[in-house]
Amino acid sequence: MIFLLIVLVLILAAVAYVLSTPGLRIPYLSRPMYETFRRILPRMSDTEREALEAGTIWWESTLFRGKPSARALHAIPAPRLSEAEQTFLDHQVETLCAMVNDWRVTRHDLDLPPEAWEYIKAERFFGMIIPREYGGLGFSALAHSAVVTKLSSRSSALSATVMVPNSLGPAELLLHYGTQEQKDHYLPRLARGEDIPAFGLTSPWAGSDAAAIPDHGIVCRGQWQGQDVLGMRVTWDKRYITLGPVCTILGLAFRLYDPDGLLGDAADLGITCALVPSSHPGVEIGRRHFPLDAMFMNGPTRGHAVFMPLEFIIGGPAMAGQGWRMLMECLAAGRSISLPSSYVGMAQLTVRTVGAYAAIRDQFRTPIHRFEGVAEALARIGGHTYLMDAARTMTAGAVDLGEKPAVVSAIVKYHVTERGRIVVNDGMDVIGGKGICLGPQNFLGRAYQQIPVGITVEGANILTRSLIIFGQGAIRCHPHVLDEMHAAQAGDPHQGLQDFDRAFWGHVRHATGNALRAIGHGFTNAMLARPDAGVAPGMTRHYRQLSRFSAAFATLADAAMLVLGGSLKRRESISARLGDILSQLYLISATLKRYEDEGRQAADAPLAHWAIQDAYCRAQDAFAGVLANFPNRFVAGVLRLLLFPWGRPYAAPSDRLTMAVADAISQPGGTRERLSRDVYVPRDPAEPVGAIEAAFAAVLDTRDLDARMRAFEKSGRLPADDPRTNVRDMAEAIHAAGGLTDEELTRIRARNILRDRVIMVDEFDRDFQSVLRADSASSPADDATGRKAPWNASG
Ligand SMILES: Cc1cc2nc3c(=O)[nH]c(=O)nc-3n(C[C@H](O)[C@H](O)[C@H](O)COP(=O)(O)OP(=O)(O)OC[C@H]3O[C@@H](n4cnc5c(N)ncnc54)[C@H](O)[C@@H]3O)c2cc1C
Repeated sequence: MIFLLIVLVLILAAVAYVLSTPGLRIPYLSRPMYETFRRILPRMSDTEREALEAGTIWWESTLFRGKPSARALHAIPAPRLSEAEQTFLDHQVETLCAMVNDWRVTRHDLDLPPEAWEYIKAERFFGMIIPREYGGLGFSALAHSAVVTKLSSRSSALSATVMVPNSLGPAELLLHYGTQEQKDHYLPRLARGEDIPAFGLTSPWAGSDAAAIPDHGIVCRGQWQGQDVLGMRVTWDKRYITLGPVCTILGLAFRLYDPDGLLGDAADLGITCALVPSSHPGVEIGRRHFPLDAMFMNGPTRGHAVFMPLEFIIGGPAMAGQGWRMLMECLAAGRSISLPSSYVGMAQLTVRTVGAYAAIRDQFRTPIHRFEGVAEALARIGGHTYLMDAARTMTAGAVDLGEKPAVVSAIVKYHVTERGRIVVNDGMDVIGGKGICLGPQNFLGRAYQQIPVGITVEGANILTRSLIIFGQGAIRCHPHVLDEMHAAQAGDPHQGLQDFDRAFWGHVRHATGNALRAIGHGFTNAMLARPDAGVAPGMTRHYRQLSRFSAAFATLADAAMLVLGGSLKRRESISARLGDILSQLYLISATLKRYEDEGRQAADAPLAHWAIQDAYCRAQDAFAGVLANFPNRFVAGVLRLLLFPWGRPYAAPSDRLTMAVADAISQPGGTRERLSRDVYVPRDPAEPVGAIEAAFAAVLDTRDLDARMRAFEKSGRLPADDPRTNVRDMAEAIHAAGGLTDEELTRIRARNILRDRVIMVDEFDRDFQSVLRADSASSPADDATGRKAPWNASG
């Protein structure tokens, strides 16, 4: 035994000596590995490299390195709106929401009303990201996000119209790359809405693979404003372009060629971005697509051999060929804000309306939120919305800190929109036929229709999950992989070897440290992991597991890269699951941070616990999925044994927790308010959301009477032959039998009018002609109760 120990110590000492002596380590270990690595590493195209290296890395890199710190998480400043931004939300955004009736927009006007367009321009909604010096609002990312969130709780046409000019497009590109002349000319016009922008990248033949667009320009001489100038003849065929049909200034991406060498030696300059006035001769715009009944402007644009001067290139001729880099660098900010915010808006709307509907709607003489099956759906609505909003806020805060969070923006784009889909689908299930019959009284059907749009745009979700989150994350967030890749592709092999040696052995140290930590946490179930800052009571376990999952993820990621190497890129299912783990850890961090930043609201704790448990379960499933499909079965077995020796640490949220979350959204109180704080709530009970608010208040106000009526029914004092002893007219029967006073009956009747407004659906003439007239829907509520519903005064 002692002999074996001595041998082991001697071997370890020899290894340590070789590793710590560059004269031995570099020629005998590093060089052969470096040469193999140089040979097998696939060469990256320029577009791949630019996409991978764009933007910055942020909190996700801490997770990737296996050591998240509670202190660092809490130290990230809590995002806050300025007074001016809050005032804008309370006034201008409220006013704009009030101007738009989504049913009217969708079925009657087929566009936003002219006064809304005018208001959007006059109040500079198109200039939220444009600095004040150019006449814009100069808003923080958080404010921009809050505006989109509220608008999307009202109308998808409204939010998409406002969102797009503030996302990746002409303004963003001009701000970063425009010449001073271009900025001075366009930015004030864009801020004032005198120019309406659109950006055309997507072609019928290249959607997700946007770098492959066939649209092209040829550098040549031509006539411009009576002069012979150097320019380009551009041919394009783009589709799906938002605001395309009404834009006055069209951003265009195309590949620029210079066959005659008029600009230099390169014949293929690469993707180039130009700004073309839509009035420019040869530009075709104006036709529309019809994206799932959405009424925001969207359509194709085409042009054939359209001559334009080189000055149309964003940033001028010097930026010819730099378009892909520009797009990739600017993608992160917009992707962090637009779609996550609009899906949070839809989720908050679901919380506000469906939570209340489940308290208003009775079946089996019971408010439906009390049924456990419905509560499960309500808990998903509440828990996911809490997490989605946490991720939206934390990510907008990152943009305000100056980050261009490339990986995080992909995480929130994918996971917030996917959870939004779950929330809205669950909402539709809870409200049953009420959600299915479209009409002016349907408060959720339009959100349901619009869900696939955001899933598809700004990086379609399947692609984002499969290729981007881990694909980019592994290279950008890992402390050593990018350095190893750079070293392998270095022009000078001598310098490359030195850099590789440093990066590779750093990598080995990093991986060993993580593996030891992951194994330690695995065997102790993270009981010894201590958060390095004070954390809220009850949340300690989640912080401990964050350290454990993070170290386990870092180990698994290293093992996957080691075993699969370059082929990991093609093994999309493995890469996607690794991305899922990283994503869930980011979302858990955001949820913990929200709980902390909001002052540890004890009433919200069930939501936070539900969201975190659910996210950990998803992360566990992803771990299991990677290991079950890992090509090297021996390594998979060892990893399973070492990382999760006692099985999965998290169970799905319990039924008790589920009921607590469901209660929190279907009862009045701070939690429900905080969860739906950005929803536009019309005060007018003729509006569907206004009707729900009024009915909800009335239902809560009459709960004591409902309890008394049930007791009266059970007492057997109701005459058996009274036909009013039914779910609709019971109060009348009880009143006749002396169980309710006149005043109490009046209260119940008033409540029933409001309740009936909520549960009734719209009806139209059989030929549906009246669908097109916004004021012509009618509801049987009018006939059943003999009262005219206020939304149908003309019906
Ligand atoms: C309403 C709307 C508005 C839009 N606005 C604009 C705009 O203003 N400007 C603009 O330029 N474009 C715009 N787009 C285009 C949008 O960005 C594209 O639709 C998107 O890039 C996907 O392209 P595609 O629809 O051609 O799908 P495809 O590229 O054909 O993809 C089909 C499916 O395959 C998946 N997929 C593709 N490649 C991979 C892969 N390697 N791995 C895994 N999955 C993969 C995708 O995720 C998707 O699910 C808009 C689209 C819509 C619908």
